[in-house]
Amino acid sequence: MNDRSNQNPQSAGLEAGSQTPGVVQLLNQHKQSGKPTLSYEFFPPKDAEGDAVLWRSLDKLLESNPDFVSVTYGAGGSNRDTSLAVVDRMAKLVPTIGHLTCVGATRATTTEIIRHFEAAGVSSLLALRGDPPKDGTPVNSEISRAIDLVELIREVSNLDVGVAAFPEVHPESPNLAHDVHVLKLKQDAGASFAMTQLFFTVEAYVNLVSAAREAGVTIPIVPGVMPISNAAKVLRMAEMSGAAVPAHLQRELQNADEAQARVIGMDYSIKLGSELLEAGAPGLHIFTLNFAKAALEVARGVGGLG
Ligand code: FAD
Repeated sequence: MNDRSNQNPQSAGLEAGSQTPGVVQLLNQHKQSGKPTLSYEFFPPKDAEGDAVLWRSLDKLLESNPDFVSVTYGAGGSNRDTSLAVVDRMAKLVPTIGHLTCVGATRATTTEIIRHFEAAGVSSLLALRGDPPKDGTPVNSEISRAIDLVELIREVSNLDVGVAAFPEVHPESPNLAHDVHVLKLKQDAGASFAMTQLFFTVEAYVNLVSAAREAGVTIPIVPGVMPISNAAKVLRMAEMSGAAVPAHLQRELQNADEAQARVIGMDYSIKLGSELLEAGAPGLHIFTLNFAKAALEVARGVGGLG
């Protein structure tokens, strides 16, 4: 992929006062031009060192001309202030999706946060439930499901609302048919795009999209791609999220030393990204874990993005 930094209006920052395009507008523009979107996910750093890493990484990643980025938000608002601070700063540089969770939240506080996002120049939110505490502590939420959050955002703002989608089926769902039924309910409630959980086979994404289309879901479903640069870490994340890693890949990664495993994992991630686009994905949303190198390798390796 060419270095496209010269073509990147975002690397110089979004123009003050200009209307930041929403994700749906960007996805539509790209659909018309036939060029898939490129986007990255970040999480709020935990300390000053993490903060420095995040902004250095963003600088490097802006060179690849992403269409938008997203910033996660802890369940129960655990890292609310850091997440909002990151969004405030990032949204001045590149169109930014704020993730927002509702587990344990009240309508009043959530409405205030939505207003904060609007004031920061964010034009799209990802409406999520978040996970309740694992120890079973009861959670008192006025908004207990993501669909209720979609409705609240639609009620109090004009922001684009995105929702989560699960190629490997949500761990609490009985099956894919249930998941796509819920996705259709969220679309009916006003969601206009979806972004997926991590997964490792093109079939998982294709099956989700075809089940969703059969259920009447028409919104774009952007796949999330996790670069396999640190195999041990990614295999742990796959296990935690219930994403199946193909047996041959798992075997190859486990039998390789660290350096070989990185080559195998990154080749696989680039191949998966390319196959997703060939299968009709509207773009790739790359999980960066706040590091630029592996995310850029996937973006450049796949090519033709952004
Ligand atoms: P919901 O839509 O509420 O679904 C939860 C369960 O309830 C599902 O099994 C669903 O099928 C069921 N359900 C929901 N509505 C209905 C209904 N009307 N009828 C029947 N069943 C229903 N977590 C964070 O804490 N912070 C983040 O920033 C974050 N970012 C994410 C980004 C992406 C792209 C994805 C895919 C996930 C993200 N998550 C994040 C994780 C997410 O919060 C969890 O996966 C959570 O368990 C489910 O969230 P949800 O929005 O799908 O919840």
